[in-house]
Amino acid sequence: MASVPTVKVKIHLPPQPAAAVSVKLPFPASPELRLAQLSPGPRFDSVASFTPERWFELEAYRPRALAGETADLERLLEQVQFGMLELSSVDRAVLVLTRYRSRPMSDVSRVALWQGFGVPTFELYLGPDNSLLAAECEAREGWHLEPGVECWSHDDELILDSPGNYGLRTGLTATVEGTACPCGRTTPRLVNIEAIERPALPRRLAASA
Ligand SMILES: [Zn+2]
Repeated sequence: MASVPTVKVKIHLPPQPAAAVSVKLPFPASPELRLAQLSPGPRFDSVASFTPERWFELEAYRPRALAGETADLERLLEQVQFGMLELSSVDRAVLVLTRYRSRPMSDVSRVALWQGFGVPTFELYLGPDNSLLAAECEAREGWHLEPGVECWSHDDELILDSPGNYGLRTGLTATVEGTACPCGRTTPRLVNIEAIERPALPRRLAASA
């Protein structure tokens, strides 16, 4: 019996979109909350992304909450204060995305964003893959570790382990608080979070003898 020639066909499947994560927002939010995200970050359940080229579309979207890195939020606030954008629709919160190994938001930035947008700010700490590692709670009693995230310290540096991200050196020091939080959550939380001031690396290696 003649064999049937096999034809190999390469099928290129479209990349599967990453599953949206359910991030518990640190304030009461309905699924219909219009949240505008200015910087890459976790995929919130319902969110519209606005890269800087699309910021002019924000007025029409009328977001009630914003999420972004400090630098992007400050640039956006500048445009609002210069009268280039009208964002009085923001009436819920500003979520500040602090990336792994970046410095936490400064008090100066926190006050500027809070007063500028007229809503409270909450800090979310993201891993190298934009996953959520820890989040500031509404009681402002530190950053609660997300489920599945564990911490330890090495030479006073906070190290985080999360599924797929083990041994993340944060460049931060922090105290782990295990007591129940005034916000009602009982998950461990990080308090007294500070960036480690590292001595500058030598500009060049010493000449060999
Ligand atoms: Zn709390």
